[in-house]
Amino acid sequence: MRKTMHKKLIVGNLKMNPVSPAEFGRYLDMLEKETKGKNFEKTEIVICPPAIYFRQFSERKFKNIKLGAQDVYWEYQGAYTGEISAGMVKANGAEYSIVGHSERRKYFGENEEIINSKLKAILRSGLKAILCVGESGEERKSNQTAPVLKKQLEKSLAGIGIGKAEYITIVYEPIWAVGTDKTPSSDEVLEAKIVIKKILTVLYSKKAVEKMKILYGGSVKSFCAGQVCVDPAMDGALIGRESLAPYEFIKIVKIVEEK
Ligand code: PEP
Repeated sequence: MRKTMHKKLIVGNLKMNPVSPAEFGRYLDMLEKETKGKNFEKTEIVICPPAIYFRQFSERKFKNIKLGAQDVYWEYQGAYTGEISAGMVKANGAEYSIVGHSERRKYFGENEEIINSKLKAILRSGLKAILCVGESGEERKSNQTAPVLKKQLEKSLAGIGIGKAEYITIVYEPIWAVGTDKTPSSDEVLEAKIVIKKILTVLYSKKAVEKMKILYGGSVKSFCAGQVCVDPAMDGALIGRESLAPYEFIKIVKIVEEK
């Protein structure tokens, strides 16, 4: 596969961390220290904190880090206690939203139908979508990776036209790697990327798919970043735990930058 034409995208998913505004303030201090005055020419950096910290993030006026949401609800507004809409997230400074994360699927029972509704709401609001797909350990063992990816992509993208394709980034996140210490080999990641590209090409077109980024996610650490996101064909990574440590997170960005 030839070298990516894209600027790499590195997304930090802070999940339900940190636990207080004071701690988030300290996190932002460290992030500022690691990034101040730096012009990351080859990489776009996005941080997805809990939405309750959006304002605190925006007050820092980062020039080289964008804001993303971890999830949104599909309705525009109304009696949906506890939910946050894509429009609210956008109006509060976010440019991206993750959708279909394996933790949302596992703990909140999100299926492809729900993910499809959320994805449509994200795109309608003018946010860019970061759609996560990936197989479980069992599915990989029984050679189901390609059919699982096909089903997830076809159903999640149903009814979303070719004109929207460039605003969607796909993350290949094998469930067996997220939150563990296991990472696939660079060949396995590349294989999955090829499968995803083929599925997307059937759904859209070769030209449209060239504008879409495909990232890797699942236990990325600086020591293995080269294996999973520095490969010239890769477009970047979605990073969970390591994004909570700004020094390590920016170390990964630098590895990508120096490539
Ligand atoms: C994630 O939350 O998307 C993720 C990849 O987590 P981790 O890096 O901790 O495996």
